[in-house]
Amino acid sequence: MGLMYRTFLEGSVVYACGKCRTHLATDEYVLSRQFQGKYGTAYLFHQVVNVMQGDEQDRAMTTGLHTIKDVLCSKCKTTLGWIYVKAYNDDNKYKEGKCVLESKLLAEAH
Ligand SMILES: [Zn+2]
Repeated sequence: MGLMYRTFLEGSVVYACGKCRTHLATDEYVLSRQFQGKYGTAYLFHQVVNVMQGDEQDRAMTTGLHTIKDVLCSKCKTTLGWIYVKAYNDDNKYKEGKCVLESKLLAEAH
């Protein structure tokens, strides 16, 4: 296979994969820094780039049942977080299509 095309981002803060430094999002894509991930604080982004998505799965969270897909770095395949596919209660509908990344697994470039 040839070279994989990767998007490079510019912003005052760029969030990258902590392992291979592939760019994922900028601070302008952040909706919330108040999310809880498996490893502590997680950020909610309205958009991320350079990721692959796993299969849909149902996951019971503190805020209720959600259908999610794992989000993996497109280069090193590290699982970095998840995307909300469907929320089953109205308070959480705004999360659909949004992506949560674990802050511990990210590198920040300023
Ligand atoms: Zn990576």
